[in-house]
Amino acid sequence: MADSLYDGLMDLKTQIQKVVRGDVIDTPDVLDTFSKDASIFVVRPALVIAPKDSEDIQALVQFVDDHQEIDLSLTPRSAGTCMSGGPLSESLVLDMTKYFDKVIKVGEDYAITEPGVYYRNFEKETLKKNLLLPCYTSSRELNTVGGMVGNNSAGEKTLSYGQTERWVKELKVVLSDGEEHTIKPLTKRELEAKVKDRSFEGKLYKQVSGLIERNWELIQKHRPLTSKNSTGLYLWNVWDAQRQVFDLNKLIVGSQGTLGIVTEIKFQLVKPKTQKAMLEVELGSLDQLDKVVLDVLQFKPESFECFDDQTIKFSYRFIPDFKEDFKKHNSDPVQLKLLPGFMRDLFRKLPKIVLIAEFTGDSVEEVTNQAEAAHESLKKFSKITTRVVPAGDSDKYWILRRDSFNILRHHSGKTLRTAPFIDDIVVQVEKLPLFLPRLQKVMAQYRKKIIYTIAGHIGNGNFHIIPLMDMHKKEMRDLIPEIQEKVFSLVFEFGGSMAAEHNDGLVRGAYLEKMYGAEMLNLFKAVKKIFDPKGIFNPHKKMNATHEYSQAHLSGSGITVKDYARKG
Ligand SMILES: Cc1cc2nc3c(=O)[nH]c(=O)nc-3n(C[C@H](O)[C@H](O)[C@H](O)COP(=O)(O)OP(=O)(O)OC[C@H]3O[C@@H](n4cnc5c(N)ncnc54)[C@H](O)[C@@H]3O)c2cc1C
Repeated sequence: MADSLYDGLMDLKTQIQKVVRGDVIDTPDVLDTFSKDASIFVVRPALVIAPKDSEDIQALVQFVDDHQEIDLSLTPRSAGTCMSGGPLSESLVLDMTKYFDKVIKVGEDYAITEPGVYYRNFEKETLKKNLLLPCYTSSRELNTVGGMVGNNSAGEKTLSYGQTERWVKELKVVLSDGEEHTIKPLTKRELEAKVKDRSFEGKLYKQVSGLIERNWELIQKHRPLTSKNSTGLYLWNVWDAQRQVFDLNKLIVGSQGTLGIVTEIKFQLVKPKTQKAMLEVELGSLDQLDKVVLDVLQFKPESFECFDDQTIKFSYRFIPDFKEDFKKHNSDPVQLKLLPGFMRDLFRKLPKIVLIAEFTGDSVEEVTNQAEAAHESLKKFSKITTRVVPAGDSDKYWILRRDSFNILRHHSGKTLRTAPFIDDIVVQVEKLPLFLPRLQKVMAQYRKKIIYTIAGHIGNGNFHIIPLMDMHKKEMRDLIPEIQEKVFSLVFEFGGSMAAEHNDGLVRGAYLEKMYGAEMLNLFKAVKKIFDPKGIFNPHKKMNATHEYSQAHLSGSGITVKDYARKG
């Protein structure tokens, strides 16, 4: 542990080994791996621990609590594909993928699972019963279900099915008292009984329900109006006044491990639709994008996604890297699928943006009619190309859409790298006509300095703008807060959210006050205090993020280890 934050505490590893049965690791390669996620930050942990079971996590909470004199904390990490820096920490990082990797049960319309299960493995189990978790991500081949809960993730079917928050029925969570708690929705009567309980859980319910009751109007006023959001804590959803249900899961989902560590998840599942038809729309510029989007939405696609010309260019450059995905889809070899498009695109100007809308249902006729009707409707627009994609040809669009960011991540070049910092903005689709020209104007100021790709969930008004930057250059790193300030200000002016699904973490946490105002930020902080009064879980994220800390841990800034003042 040389050079680490805990120099002088050489026996930390030995001490922790005494209280857990899982693995305690301090080898440089593992610490290096766990220093990064898919974000623009690098934070090197002191130790990585793979807890064997819930009891190990409970023991770790107790250990951290017992060692208040040193600034220890626990940060859960699943697959580490977070784009906001959520699973990064200088202290103890818990690898949830090693032992929390079992799907416990798939029932009639639900599944109970451990959080470290990769989504791709989880789906194999649910599909055996013809069931699906419909909030899966574009990173579905890479991420775990626990990370989806941590970030309140979303994906291509969110337009119709909402994000992870909607599909979590029950959680087991280790809280700051060092015990595992089962969190489920409570009726009003159950809540009244719970708050009389003198236990930690009773006090928690009492304080959170009191806070919500006292601040009801403020909280409702700040409920984001966008169809997706993963910023802040979803205080507005805890008490469902219509159904008279109080559900603390609404706070834990999307809290990025800042309130406790999830050890088991019960998901609601759906039966996937059997038939689908895809409409592809190519636009030469972004000028008509808003109108085309609103037009297609009238025909109620299940998914409505987009990717731009830069994404296509990069994808063609790295065609072989898509091979594995085509294999997974049992599809034709990659070259056969992508080459026709490549040859055609060589001889023409690429479209600025491609939209794909998928219509689903239980009969071929129904879905084809929907796609055809949307296709007909779009004929009124000039300078766009649209077609109903022949059955069997839609895989390539999904693969381009889902995997382009990952390919880009690994191939952006020797000096350039993907820099997600305005990667997840969302506004109401009705506002796109006024919002998009303003966004284009802001981004035009940086056209000469950075290239960026745009992809995303256009039907939700959710754009993933990913610049490619040389993070070793200070002048490039300095652009990050400058562009964030301009883009987020614009998003907030339009009542949007700075993150639809990638959460706050280190990259956006410090902007929560700008998005919600000081009063709401204080409520988020108050909830954190109620759940975690001693600051045991995941520091410096979300409500406790600061510009200074995040800036200091930017990748390329050279600062990976920080001297820490000891507590007390
Ligand atoms: C190529 C690519 C594409 C992506 N596309 C999407 C997309 O379409 N939609 C989307 O939403 N995101 C997307 N992401 C971001 C990311 O993949 C998702 O947010 C994903 O759900 C994170 O899962 P993970 O297992 O990697 O979690 P991690 O990155 O390990 O963790 C995510 C957060 O959850 C917390 N956490 C992890 N486990 C637990 C636990 N057991 N208890 C409590 N908290 C926990 C962590 O502390 C962290 O704050 C993409 C990322 C990449 C690299």
